[in-house]
Amino acid sequence: MPYFDKAVETMPRERLQALQLDKLRVVISQLLGRNRFYTNKWKEAGAAPGDIRSLADLQALPFTSKSELVQAQADAPPFGTNSTFPETEYTRFHQTSGTTGAPLRVLDTPESWDWWGKCWGFVFSGAGVTSADRLFLAFGFGPFIGFWAAVEGAKRVGATMIPGGGWDSLQRLHMMRELRATAICCTPTYALRLADVARQENFDLSSIPIRRLVHAGEPGANVAHTKARIEAAWGGKCFDHAGASEVGAHSFECEVQPGGIHVIESEFIAEVIDPQTGREALPGAIGELVITNMGRPGFPVIRYRTGDLVRMNLSPCTCGRTFARLDGGLLGRSDDMVTIRGVNVYPTAIENVIRQFAEVEEFQITVTRQREMQDLEIQIEVANAADAESLPRYEMKARRFRRLDG
Ligand SMILES: [Zn+2]
Repeated sequence: MPYFDKAVETMPRERLQALQLDKLRVVISQLLGRNRFYTNKWKEAGAAPGDIRSLADLQALPFTSKSELVQAQADAPPFGTNSTFPETEYTRFHQTSGTTGAPLRVLDTPESWDWWGKCWGFVFSGAGVTSADRLFLAFGFGPFIGFWAAVEGAKRVGATMIPGGGWDSLQRLHMMRELRATAICCTPTYALRLADVARQENFDLSSIPIRRLVHAGEPGANVAHTKARIEAAWGGKCFDHAGASEVGAHSFECEVQPGGIHVIESEFIAEVIDPQTGREALPGAIGELVITNMGRPGFPVIRYRTGDLVRMNLSPCTCGRTFARLDGGLLGRSDDMVTIRGVNVYPTAIENVIRQFAEVEEFQITVTRQREMQDLEIQIEVANAADAESLPRYEMKARRFRRLDG
C-alpha cells in the first residue's frame, strides 16, 4: 500500500489530534498581531485564540466565510488583509474561478507553495502514482489554481510531469499516446469529453496506457456511475480529490476506494456543522464541511465554511489510514440543495442516475419556482441525435446546475 508519509497517515487518532493541536497553536501564534484580517476578526468577536488548550476550544473562534475574504479584498485591493507577511515574502499568485461571485485572489509564500505540493503528494500516493509514472496534466495553466499545485506534487512522488496547456483535446490525445502517458489529471467532465473526442476522431483510447486518472474540481469521480463510465472509457482506475484555492488540497481517495475521500488531517482540521444553525452536526449526519488549514500561514483560513456538504466517517479504512473519511466525497453545495415536493435533492444524485445511460453525452439542470413550489428541469443531450441543440462543453468546472428561482 503506497503512502506518502506512513507514520502520519496511520497514526492513532489521539496522537493525530495532539499533532493537530500543536500545529493549530503554532499557526495562531503566527497570525496574532501580524495578520490584520484574523487579528481584527477575533478582536471583534471577543475571542481569545491565544488560550486554545484543546481542539474543542477551536469551536470558540468565529467561522470564516468566502464573502468576508472577498470583502477584505474589496476594502484593501488588490490582495486584501488576509496576509501575514510583508508582500515581498510572497512569490505565487492565483485566483478562484469566480463560479459563484467575485474571484478571490490568493498569494502564497515559497513555504506555503511547498506545502501545497506536499498535500498533493498525499493525493498522488493515495492514487498509486509513483516515479514510474508519466503524468499528463490536461489543464490550461491560467490564473485558476487547478492543477498548478499538482505540478509540485508530481515532483514529490517523482513522477514525470507533462504539461498539457495551450493544446486542444485532439492534440492532447496524440501527445499522451506519443509519450505513453500512464496517468492523467483533469476534471471528471473533461475525462469524458476527451473520450468523446476520441470516439468522434476514431482515435483508439486504449492506445494510451493510462492506469490512473486523478480528478478534481467537481465531485464526479465519486459519483458511482460517472466513475464507472470514466474507467470503462479509459481502462484505468479513477480517483477523486477535493480542494479549493482558499483552503488547499485537503482530501484524496485511497487505492482501496471505500466510497469516499480521506481528509489530510495532519494538515487540516475538518469539522462538520449544521449549515442552518452553525452547530456541530451529529456524528454521521450530512452537514457543511468547515476547514482550518495549518500549513499556509501566509494565507490562512481558520474555520472556513466551504459550502460543501459531507458526511464524516471515523471508522478505520482497510488501507490502514486513520485519516477521517468523507463518505461519497463532496455530496454537493449546501446552496445547491433543492426541495422537490418535500424531498431534498442534490445535483450529484441526479448525475448518478443520468450517467447510467451510455447515450447521454451532456446534461443541464435548471431549477425554477412556481409560486411556493420548486420545479426541476433536466435537459439531456444524446449522442448522434439529429437536429439536437448542443449543450455547453467544459474543460474546468462544469456549470450544469442553474437556478432561476432566485
Ligand atoms: Zn483508505
